Amino acid sequence: MLKGQETEHFEDSFARYVGTRHAVTNGSGLDALRLIFEAWITLGRLRAGDEVIVPANSFIASALAVSQAGLVPKLADVSSATHNLAPESIVDALTERTRAVMAVHLYGSTEGIDAVRDLCSDRQLLLVEDSAQAHGARRPLGSAGAIGDAAAFSFYPAKNLGALGDGGCSVTDDDDLADRIRVLANYGSRTKYIHEQRGINSRLDEANAAFLSIKLKCLDDDNARRRLIAARYRAEIRNEHVEVPEAPSAADGHVWHLFVVHSDRRAELQAHLERLQIETMIHYPVPIHLQPAYAGVSTPPNGLPVAEELADSVISIPMSPVLSDGDVSRIIHAMNTFGR
Ligand SMILES: *Cc1c(COP(=O)(O)O)cnc(C)c1O
Repeated sequence: MLKGQETEHFEDSFARYVGTRHAVTNGSGLDALRLIFEAWITLGRLRAGDEVIVPANSFIASALAVSQAGLVPKLADVSSATHNLAPESIVDALTERTRAVMAVHLYGSTEGIDAVRDLCSDRQLLLVEDSAQAHGARRPLGSAGAIGDAAAFSFYPAKNLGALGDGGCSVTDDDDLADRIRVLANYGSRTKYIHEQRGINSRLDEANAAFLSIKLKCLDDDNARRRLIAARYRAEIRNEHVEVPEAPSAADGHVWHLFVVHSDRRAELQAHLERLQIETMIHYPVPIHLQPAYAGVSTPPNGLPVAEELADSVISIPMSPVLSDGDVSRIIHAMNTFGR
């Protein structure tokens, strides 16, 4: 349907890779998330004003997708161990208008999703996985993207599976949902110049689809390399001012999109690394409820203390499958000499 051969081929391969019946590509991860909600609204499964629980410690797109679809993001706190939503934080944010939960596999980690899924099925809440950082993560329960009712991926160049420019994809087992997303992403049209919905224009172009089909073949190897680097960082970084992340409970459940450590002296650590020409980033410096764009958003009665604490202490050190063993040794050495 109005999609070129390369795009159709990539959609088939990616659906098979994730383990869902459908994959529908579009222009960005944000659009992929937003179209899931818009499709549910036009299918009558959600209504304008319904609430969706979103972790406060995520990239802004997680909340924007909900807002743009005319739904209300309810920010929930995350677990300090996993940085992902925990069932308790979901329960704290629930109201009688809550209809869905967006679980973000932050930094590439699916940790905690099993319990979140159980809670969603017990309470009949729709579960969307924001898998923009978790391409290829696998748990006994299923791959990132195949665990909830629907999921979105981003192919922004810096992601684990990156295109040459922007791109995204929604995945689901639900035939009606996939069909509706496809129509909405194509100006609401199934037949050229006949518009059954008020859709948007959001597409992945053919060149990017061809590029992604090739890169998909390397994704598992790239993720394996990321795991190796993460294992070295975890084993070899030794500094009283640096806390490395815990080992994931399922080894393949984490694809280490980012390697995020905590430090009680973060600004100095960042300056030290910068002097040694090691680039770091903060994911994320401002939680969603403290962003100007979400001024006045309601927060749970107990606040969002973990998300706020993380924003002040996390720092992402280099993580990429193209780092050499020498690069990794140099980064570890720099971490270990900080403050000495
Ligand atoms: C990158 C990202 C998105 C958005 O993807 P785009 O392709 O940049 O629109 C959404 N959620 C998370 C967690 C992300 O990291």
